[in-house]
Amino acid sequence: MIEENVKKLLSEAPEYNPQGERVRIVAAVKMQTAEDINRAIAAGITDIGDNHVQEFKEKYDLIVGNPARHFIGHLQTNKVKYLIGKVALYHSVDRLQLAEELSKRSLNAGISSEILLQINIGNEQTKGGFAPDDALQALKDVSALGGLKIRGFMAMLPFSDDQNLLRTLALRMRALFDEAKKNSEDFDTLSMGMSGDWKLCVESGSNMVRIGTAIFGARNYAK
Ligand SMILES: *Cc1c(COP(=O)(O)O)cnc(C)c1O
Repeated sequence: MIEENVKKLLSEAPEYNPQGERVRIVAAVKMQTAEDINRAIAAGITDIGDNHVQEFKEKYDLIVGNPARHFIGHLQTNKVKYLIGKVALYHSVDRLQLAEELSKRSLNAGISSEILLQINIGNEQTKGGFAPDDALQALKDVSALGGLKIRGFMAMLPFSDDQNLLRTLALRMRALFDEAKKNSEDFDTLSMGMSGDWKLCVESGSNMVRIGTAIFGARNYAK
């Protein structure tokens, strides 16, 4: 099933978004076994994204095929040390304090870490991230830190069936991304879209989607 899901996803996802940017697919692998993740990689997945540091550590050496590792979940400052040097892109930098810790640890390790700033595009109380109105200031503040390369923004749309609302927010996020891009080197990634809304997000200008359920099936939270 995983193999078929990956093939279907890879055939359905457009290679480029309307802006002509290449669309990248990151498999969201939280709660999946290394075996299932490896099946997805064998079927064509090139990037995987974890939510939990513990899972990331446990599975790290069991993954074959050398995919790019992303970190997409909420990250506690005191766990950054376990990830430094192992993550190609941190999607969920949602507060200045986390950026500062990533900066400090990266400088200590003599590396540059690539990050996205998470934007709470729906202004939802239940979600983390910088408020859209604070995004450009946050970008300035984080840009002043060493050891980091800010590659773009990450956003999660609200859970809603209202396609008009979702499209409005996705387009607003793209507009904010374009605004930020004007003054930022290396700023090329808009990570927005999950199993339920990735098509709408790519149509609205996302160029990176994070897909779990559509690859691995529904997660079993009872396990
Ligand atoms: C789980 C998760 C996804 C994928 O969600 P699906 O709906 O299963 O595709 C994407 N992004 C983040 C941050 C996630 O935690």
